[in-house]
Amino acid sequence: MNYYVMTLFPEMIEQGMHTSITGRAIEKGLLSLKTINIRDYSVTGNGRIDDYPYGGGAGMVMQAEPVYRAYESLVCQAEQKALRLIYLTPQGRVFDQSMAQEFACEENLAFLCGHYEGVDERVLEAIVTDYVSIGDYVLTGGELPAMVMMDAISRMVPGVLSNSDSGVSESFSDGLLEYPQYSRPEIWRGCQVPPVLLSGHHGNVDRWRHEQSLLRTLRNRPDLLEHMQLDKADRKFLRKLLEAGADSGLSEKEVSVLQNILENS
Ligand code: SAM
Repeated sequence: MNYYVMTLFPEMIEQGMHTSITGRAIEKGLLSLKTINIRDYSVTGNGRIDDYPYGGGAGMVMQAEPVYRAYESLVCQAEQKALRLIYLTPQGRVFDQSMAQEFACEENLAFLCGHYEGVDERVLEAIVTDYVSIGDYVLTGGELPAMVMMDAISRMVPGVLSNSDSGVSESFSDGLLEYPQYSRPEIWRGCQVPPVLLSGHHGNVDRWRHEQSLLRTLRNRPDLLEHMQLDKADRKFLRKLLEAGADSGLSEKEVSVLQNILENS
């Protein structure tokens, strides 16, 4: 996977991406990263790339021409004309695991990080293929969102994760949140690891983990459960929870969500 990032703060991207798992993947040649400093393409010659918004209003806008010139240089470097170019914006489609999977299939991916009030609309219309947000809040710039996306996408590039950091059974991989994890010691400050995990019985461990995933998803993200195809065993487990009601530790709200899920599945 080759990443190209157009930004006003290349050092921020370089430092972030050359750390930990993505850093190792870059060293191994599984990922490559090129940053393009938009300021180098200033048309005024003094590094300025922003101007006042037409129509008035607060803040500054990144001008079209420096962004377009940075893009031309990027296209030359990527040696690919039909490049997927993502503009990070709170107005975009909200990033999730299935989008990460989709983007991971590309050979080259380019990102445009905005700043100030954003970027002149005309250049966005000319070059952007995807508008992506990382959530319903406004940040000062697109660098952190670009790094969030590259991190999630990189984990799906073959070889980036070793077996020990495997992403196979993680949250969202099967539509559910991941089960709770425990490590040594067996008893920590009086709290015991669930005995089933020490039983050595793989079938029971798998079943317990799956049920914990169902429970955790019900508690934290019931919207995910509503869209899942539940099998017979899932429904049996959830029905038992419902029958136990308050004894199972569910709140009134969780009970009512569970009732809805079971009625509609
Ligand atoms: N005026 C813009 C608006 O209301 O939509 C917000 C501009 S924001 C202050 C500056 C830049 O940060 C944006 O151009 C974008 O690149 C980035 N940004 C801010 N929040 C973001 C988010 N939630 N997701 C992705 N990018 C974001």
